[in-house]
Amino acid sequence: MTSFTFDAVLASEPTEFVPSDRNPNVAADVSAQDAWALLEASGGLALRVDASGNILLATLASAQLLAYPREYLLKSSILDVVSVEQRELLSDLLRACDSDGSSKRARLRFSGGLSEGRWLDLRISPGTGHEGAPHLCVFGYDVTQWVINEKKFIDESFRDPLTGVGNRALMRKRIAEYCSEDGTGTASSSFAVALMDLDGFKKVNDSLGHEFGDALLKQVSVRLQGAIRPKDVVARLGGDEFVLLLDGVASETAATGILERIIHACRQPFHLAGCQIRVTTSIGLAFGAGSHRLESQLLKCADLAMYEAKARGKNRYCVYSPELEHRLDRQFRIEQEMFQAVQNGEFLLHYQPIVWPDSGKVCAVEALMRWEHPTLSITPDVFIPVAEHNGLINHLGAWALRCACAQLAAWDAQGIHIDYVSVNVSPVQFLHPGFADSVRKAIADSGVSASRLVLEITEGALMTDPEAAQELLVELRALGVRFAVDDFGTGYSSLSYLRQFPLSALKIDRSFVTDMMNSPHAKTIVFAVLSLARELGLVAIAEGVETQAQNQLLVEHGCELVQGWYYSKALSPAQFEHQAQTGQLLLGTAQVFSQ
Ligand code: C2E
Ligand code: CA
Ligand code: CA
Repeated sequence: MTSFTFDAVLASEPTEFVPSDRNPNVAADVSAQDAWALLEASGGLALRVDASGNILLATLASAQLLAYPREYLLKSSILDVVSVEQRELLSDLLRACDSDGSSKRARLRFSGGLSEGRWLDLRISPGTGHEGAPHLCVFGYDVTQWVINEKKFIDESFRDPLTGVGNRALMRKRIAEYCSEDGTGTASSSFAVALMDLDGFKKVNDSLGHEFGDALLKQVSVRLQGAIRPKDVVARLGGDEFVLLLDGVASETAATGILERIIHACRQPFHLAGCQIRVTTSIGLAFGAGSHRLESQLLKCADLAMYEAKARGKNRYCVYSPELEHRLDRQFRIEQEMFQAVQNGEFLLHYQPIVWPDSGKVCAVEALMRWEHPTLSITPDVFIPVAEHNGLINHLGAWALRCACAQLAAWDAQGIHIDYVSVNVSPVQFLHPGFADSVRKAIADSGVSASRLVLEITEGALMTDPEAAQELLVELRALGVRFAVDDFGTGYSSLSYLRQFPLSALKIDRSFVTDMMNSPHAKTIVFAVLSLARELGLVAIAEGVETQAQNQLLVEHGCELVQGWYYSKALSPAQFEHQAQTGQLLLGTAQVFSQ
């Protein structure tokens, strides 16, 4: 064995070699052999190297630890035995320690000669050899098992225990990795977050039990992993909610392929304990680029888009936009307030006169719903779709029918005679099983003749299920109720159905009336509807008449009735009564419908 003194080592590491007080025989000047024995017994790494890393001295324990023969180590550089990717780091540390004379610490992986690599916690300190030549002492402690345990622990903390895919913590970490730390809040590379849940999962869970639900989630995870690309990430947030992190995706075009693959994969039947189960998925997509820095903000955006995908009929994806957020936000607020408004009686009906254009006399009214919100002005174009979405339209629609019929009876009693009242019927309400009953009840409660009620139905409502519509129309027509097709010309009606349905009137949509003076195309449509109505024996009613010129043109082409601001806006019952009693509105006596 090469003889050498450990003075330099002791000088650089004084505390590690202090002799024990309980053993007075141990002299303060520990012999080189004792020091060497202590180093060997530690089982750790103990090397002396030069500033370039060439190994000058090595204990046998070091050779064993690194699984190289000591002779080999003594002819090598420490940089040859550290793992390749950490070579530069170690080289920098040696150089820094040599130049500034202070100890350095680092955890590095050594590649290992005859065995697996090992992780060592290193301490590199400056020292002096017995010839006075400067060198570096490298001590290392084996922490391989610790590193393995730590990695296992970290892996588990990022994994969903049920499905084995990532969890929310993983998603959060990955999103943070994508986002630059420069404080600008922008992602340094493009990515998108797709939040998805399974349509109908609750039913599987409730009817088949949680074991089936869990098995389904596991199978879904497998399919998702099969559908994504290598750099994408799948994580389960909880329940049936999964999130996908799509690498490099910055536009809807870039996302379409993969999202359609996922929708398709989820739609295929699942086989669970002999049962075949079908579910679909709704996905919301949000892009990471731009200002959504936080994972929670991005997921919120994706969540809004997913909500929209569900509202549009599920089994599809929707993309987040600030406009969507604004609309949903408003919709949500309106929805919340609407229930309270019904209880507070904030909904009421206004009535717009329907007029004989040649005489200017009022023959009928259209009931138009108003929401007297204490602070906001919310028009029917906004609140009706919300009420259709949350189902309140059935309640509101039934109320409108009752209220309009009762108003007609009240005006009869006051000597204000109106031929009929026209009430709008939403497609949702028309398709609801309780609709016919609500009409019957409104008529019976008010005591007015059913022939004085006209229901305005859109083409869309009639064509959703033409056979069912036909049945319903016939049933109500038998009571005496009449039907007008509202917004005619904007939908797609089949003429053969139009002929079969027991209809009484066509209402020419306002957009055509508005445009007809300037657009030959709109004018052609108005004339075509007028001749179609004549042909089918239906009364033509033009809505949205605002000018004398429009009125004139319609009269010349045989339009029987008109309605619009040229004559009157929709009026509250009190305004209507006042105008009728003061002669501002002239009431006609002629009947519109012949039979
Ligand atoms: P709609 O059935 O086409 O009703 C005509 C709309 O045009 C009304 O808007 C009316 O105020 C407006 N209007 C009438 N004349 C003119 C005019 O000369 N110029 C212009 N610019 N507009 C005119 P409103 O009251 O805002 O109602 C909008 C829509 O909301 C209605 O369109 C109807 O689809 C729906 N709606 C209103 N009340 C009810 C209801 O009680 N039930 C259902 N289901 N829908 C309703
Ligand atoms: Ca209408
Ligand atoms: Ca209309």
